[in-house]
Amino acid sequence: MSRSGTLFIVSAPSGAGKTTLCEELIKTLPEVVRSVSMTTRAKRGGEVHGRDYFFVTEKQFRAKIKKNAFLEHAKVFGNYYGTPRLFVERMLRKGRDVVLTIDVQGAMKVRRNFRNKAAFIFILPPSFSELKNRLLKRSTEDHAQMALRLEIARKELACAQDYDFQVVNDTIQSAFQKLMAIVIATRCKTAREPRGGGKRRCG
Ligand code: 5GP
Repeated sequence: MSRSGTLFIVSAPSGAGKTTLCEELIKTLPEVVRSVSMTTRAKRGGEVHGRDYFFVTEKQFRAKIKKNAFLEHAKVFGNYYGTPRLFVERMLRKGRDVVLTIDVQGAMKVRRNFRNKAAFIFILPPSFSELKNRLLKRSTEDHAQMALRLEIARKELACAQDYDFQVVNDTIQSAFQKLMAIVIATRCKTAREPRGGGKRRCG
């Protein structure tokens, strides 16, 4: 029986490890695809256009907003980020599951339109000090950017309660197992939307 795909929304503060976990998920489950976002942020060393992000100018980004080309978009750390609408809708129609690694503002926007077709997952660091250590080790940001990311991380952690699932990334292996379990269990749900006007069929 054909089914339409499910959206998996994954949010986490910078440095909590969501990119690594989502990459593992996509490698392990071939029917899951990742949506590549568009951003106005500068490319970091090692990042590839079209693989990590579509890097565009602010003018190009604004033109896309006008064309309603985003499922959601938000300004994060002073840069714009957006999820391409057509790609996601096409994949869902084909029955593919789509992972969006987006910030809390974006997740809340998606929730308004896809509440019953999406699973919301928040990845937590084991502690705030561990998050700080990981960001320091990564050293892709200057001091001001790092301070901003930490300040926003505090606010984002407070939103974790609004997600359907929380996964603490203490070790990659155990966090990955939990993420897999969530994805598989979500797919096995009989229906994410109430059928027959919400009436129960049995009992
Ligand atoms: P980074 O610059 O570190 O790659 O990402 C910064 C933040 O932007 C992260 O929280 C990331 O999840 C979020 N982000 C990436 N793509 C999107 C997107 O398309 N929409 C929204 N709302 N956030 C995004």
